[in-house]
Amino acid sequence: MTTANAGQPPTARIVTQKLGAMLKVELHTHTADDPIDRIPHTALELIDRAVVLGYDALAITLHDRQLDLRRLMPYAADRGLVLIPGVERTIEGRHVLLLNFQQGADDVRTFRDLARLKSRELGLVVAPHPFFPTSFCLGTDLARHADLFDAVERNAMFTRTINFNRRGESWAARHGKPVVGNCDVHRLWQLGTTYSLVDAARDADSICSAIAAGRVQVKGRPLAWTEVARIAGVMARGNLRPVSPRTRVDRSAGRIDVNDGGVLEMR
Ligand SMILES: [Zn+2]
Ligand SMILES: [Zn+2]
Repeated sequence: MTTANAGQPPTARIVTQKLGAMLKVELHTHTADDPIDRIPHTALELIDRAVVLGYDALAITLHDRQLDLRRLMPYAADRGLVLIPGVERTIEGRHVLLLNFQQGADDVRTFRDLARLKSRELGLVVAPHPFFPTSFCLGTDLARHADLFDAVERNAMFTRTINFNRRGESWAARHGKPVVGNCDVHRLWQLGTTYSLVDAARDADSICSAIAAGRVQVKGRPLAWTEVARIAGVMARGNLRPVSPRTRVDRSAGRIDVNDGGVLEMR
């Protein structure tokens, strides 16, 4: 889609204008298809919102299930948005973003499985919220399996005074890993405060290779406490499905008390 001819949808012209520019990318989102969290927006609604906010590429990363993108790709492509295959896989109890793997990502249960997958395919492995204070974040497993990770996430959930990303970003700097900016979207209004700009061609393979090669910048701003409280309010009103035995174990460790008495859970 490189020329803007009469008869093409308006989005084609937008794509033409953006050629040569850095691509605005989000790699961590959930939708109503999520098997773990209760999310109100559909994949189509998320795509529409990303287009409005000027995104060029988006990964939908449900918990433990890679969404089949075949029915969504034409819809997104018509609007100038590249969809990147993805899943937020729970590996040995830790969340890991597996991006742009064509098959096998859903079967990864151990870090050894992940090493095998990486040896077969050129996907991108990102450490999401690695040092947030929850048991399903990677923590020291990030260093233990450093070679398996291509990039570290700066999660949008930070304020000027509280920022659990700092440790992950300094780890990334010490290990020569790029940092990507993600919103971990559970509500549409979360999208857009933190994002990545990637120097790549407009396709999933190019975007993921460019990130792995470090051709990425993170943009964004800290959240105001009112925004943090809003997210906490969503969680408190029952964002989550009835707690499964697995998540119940994680519950207390995964909570961050906020100043209005609400509770924030990073997932
Ligand atoms: Zn997530
Ligand atoms: Zn997570």
